[in-house]
Amino acid sequence: MKKYRVLWMAALLGILILPGCTQGILEGIGTKTAAPIAEDDIEVAEAAENGIGRDSEGHIDTGEWIKFESPVQLPILMYHSISEGNGLRVPREEFRSQMAWLRENGYYTLSPEEAFLVLTENRMPSEKCVWLTFDDGYTDNYTEAFLILKENDMKATVFMIGKSIDKGHHLTENQMLEMSKDGISIESHTINHLELNRMTAEQQEAEMVQSKVLFDRILDQDTTVLSYPVGRYNEESLRLSEEAGYKMAVTTEPGGASRDQGMHALHRVRISPGLSVDGFASLIENASKH
Ligand SMILES: [Zn+2]
Repeated sequence: MKKYRVLWMAALLGILILPGCTQGILEGIGTKTAAPIAEDDIEVAEAAENGIGRDSEGHIDTGEWIKFESPVQLPILMYHSISEGNGLRVPREEFRSQMAWLRENGYYTLSPEEAFLVLTENRMPSEKCVWLTFDDGYTDNYTEAFLILKENDMKATVFMIGKSIDKGHHLTENQMLEMSKDGISIESHTINHLELNRMTAEQQEAEMVQSKVLFDRILDQDTTVLSYPVGRYNEESLRLSEEAGYKMAVTTEPGGASRDQGMHALHRVRISPGLSVDGFASLIENASKH
């Protein structure tokens, strides 16, 4: 009886796998036609392992997440360039050690969607969570950080400047598309990277709305997070960000993020170059509370 079941399973697997393989060989370009189904299955399986189940409408099911009584304070780490030369650039090897520390110490890296649920529902998919963010969308986010993040199976968010796409040392549209398919969310850092607190409400609104429309279109997504350029914002920015359709906005105010700051004024932990691994660890531990 058992033997038959094994044979039956093997036959079923053969039916599922073979068409994909054959197609790949015939086309000579991999399993492009058959792959989406298989990839989706793998994603669902991985998500389940990490405790990220989804309901039938694709919403994250937080039922299995750890619920906390006191308000969660979440470290949102802020990086810019992964290179060397000034106070905004973290050298690759330092970044590599920091990601290794996070992995070895059991940290789970959140997507924007998950971070929103952590902050608003006071639940976490894991006892230890961080949200990794990069401002400005430098090319090295693709050439250096992306590989290290993939090696560690980590998610992150890049806040891209609309006018900088395909320009100079910034990400190209193709790089953004590739990253967004592989765990890196691309969100808005406005169109022109100007200080919002010096603008009229109309100008601020244009920066926020036009960049959302741009990233929604390029990445075929609902862009939900805004990073205020140079951390500058005012009371109007908070309202306009929400009206433009963002669910959250991040600042450069130091420390862990919590809901009581307002979902459009979330604090971040700046990661500067020259930080020891111990220094990195204490920054994160001090910014985490639940
Ligand atoms: Zn910036």
